[in-house]
Amino acid sequence: MAPGHPSSTQAPLRRGIMFVISSPSGAGKSALSRLLLQDDPEIRLSVSVTTRPRRPSEVHGVHYHFIDVPTFHQMRERGDLLEWAEVHGNFYATPRQLVEQALGEGRDVLFDIDVQGTLQLYECMREDVVSVFILPPSIAELQSRLKRRAEDSDDVILRRLRTAETEIARWQDYDFVLVNDDLERCFHDLKQVLVAERLKRHRQPHLPALTEALLKDLRTVLS
Ligand code: ADP
Ligand code: 5GP
Repeated sequence: MAPGHPSSTQAPLRRGIMFVISSPSGAGKSALSRLLLQDDPEIRLSVSVTTRPRRPSEVHGVHYHFIDVPTFHQMRERGDLLEWAEVHGNFYATPRQLVEQALGEGRDVLFDIDVQGTLQLYECMREDVVSVFILPPSIAELQSRLKRRAEDSDDVILRRLRTAETEIARWQDYDFVLVNDDLERCFHDLKQVLVAERLKRHRQPHLPALTEALLKDLRTVLS
């Protein structure tokens, strides 16, 4: 059982990781997020709110909570949002409550958010955030993935490619950068990042008690 899991009664809780994945649209972060959520029961998705229209393949409450603009403004004014941004002409935001509860219970949370949102999370919770930027192998491949996805109009695709310029330029704001050429290999690397971050010393609060017990036993054996 992972350290920090609430049902491991003896181990003290660690705070969950805020695992942030960003990329220009079409680079593959939704595909990678989906694989990670299927593969790892210890991480849950932060379901964002958005004012963008639902795509045919999307389910309300699963991929996003689709809301109207007045509702977005109400949530923002009430302080219900952890971060928010305007991306490709629509509002997107992370509702605060589920995230704070999950982190406090030692559960890791996956965020599929843009660069503006990532920088806002850094401001208030930098030590909890592990950020990964996904690059496409080439612009030709990015374009063809956006077209193959076939869920956005040509206008929307063009707008997303324009935004990609400012997004790719921010790659140095991220802790890790992966090139999504082969999906399986990229997913493997993404998992390695999460595994290594979970093993960081400060994320294993049971270590002081364990090492103390090991040293005590060692002294007994050696005396
Ligand atoms: P994003 O969430 O970053 O906008 P998606 O995950 O929706 O991008 O990926 C865009 C399209 O590219 C999808 O059809 C997806 O299945 C496909 N895709 C993702 N990664 C790869 C890859 N490594 N090779 C080929 N196609 C990919
Ligand atoms: P899409 O419309 O393709 O689902 O998402 C467009 C962009 O908005 C992506 O870069 C995605 O990561 C980002 N995004 C999705 N949800 C949020 C959110 O809650 N906050 C922020 N800041 N960006 C988000």
